[in-house]
Amino acid sequence: MTAELWARAKINLTLGIVGRREDGYHLLSSVMQSVSLADRVVVSRLSGNEPKIDLWTSLPYVPRDSRNTTWKAVEAFAEYTGIPVRVRIAVHKVIPVGAGLAGGSADAAAVLRGLDQVYETHLSLETLANLGLSVGADVPFCLMGGTKLAKGIGEKLTELPPLPFCHIVLCKPPESLKTKDIFAAFDAQFDEIGAEKVLAEQAEKEEKLLLALEKQDLAGIAMHLTNGLLAPASARCAHIANIMTLMRENGALGTMMSGSGPTVFGIFTSRRRAEQTAAKLKSKYRETYVTNPTKPSGASQTR
Ligand code: ATP
Repeated sequence: MTAELWARAKINLTLGIVGRREDGYHLLSSVMQSVSLADRVVVSRLSGNEPKIDLWTSLPYVPRDSRNTTWKAVEAFAEYTGIPVRVRIAVHKVIPVGAGLAGGSADAAAVLRGLDQVYETHLSLETLANLGLSVGADVPFCLMGGTKLAKGIGEKLTELPPLPFCHIVLCKPPESLKTKDIFAAFDAQFDEIGAEKVLAEQAEKEEKLLLALEKQDLAGIAMHLTNGLLAPASARCAHIANIMTLMRENGALGTMMSGSGPTVFGIFTSRRRAEQTAAKLKSKYRETYVTNPTKPSGASQTR
């Protein structure tokens, strides 16, 4: 049996860092949004009884072994269910890699849903989310999609009103940023400015965005996009500020960096404007896309 799934990228409409766990994980408060830009993941159950993972990715520089998030997802599923999983997994990458768009987490989430289908295990979303969390902090969100407030390390998810329909331009500068480096730089900056000030500013911005979301006020939402990692990421990648400026000059209601960057997104009401802006950006930045917000997931086919 084969399951074909979309693995959708996410953007962070807000990203506040509110603390640190003893194990070093940062505690977040983030409004996350899934978008239509997606990898295609195919999970095929193989005959035979010996456990086996046959992994293929369309990009040669994405690892095809136990370093891949999809491999880790298979291991977590096999361990939990006790099934000697024997599968072929094909990951057709579209989501830019190392971009702050949770591409790896989205693929892992898709594989968990795919395994649940091809092995007919009927695991609850909660169980899948717990398995996903062992692979990565963004996997529980990627399993659910839509618009959610994420707390903790990303695992405490609350449903929010959907982001009103709009056109979202995504633009990734040529360099990739390491999530770990950006968080380390944030920590240094946090000590310098003072935790209280940073936390108060973040909380205020997020509150305003949540209010605008409640009112379905797209302009209000776009005005209150925020990301605590923007300053440390911008210090390492000058393209971020340039892309944000270009998007604003071309009619974006609001722009922000996603996750730990360096991808920048801009929110547009007009599809034509979004496409024109993307065309301008594309001449310099190959990885530029026009995408839309998506609702909670569920779209997949089994054959
Ligand atoms: P996040 O937004 O969660 O920080 P990201 O978008 O910045 O994630 P990814 O694209 O998920 O980053 O990948 C980061 C690293 O993980 C890359 O160096 C890549 O080699 C490795 N990786 C492992 N599995 C995958 C996968 N399925 N897809 C893409 N990259 C993967």
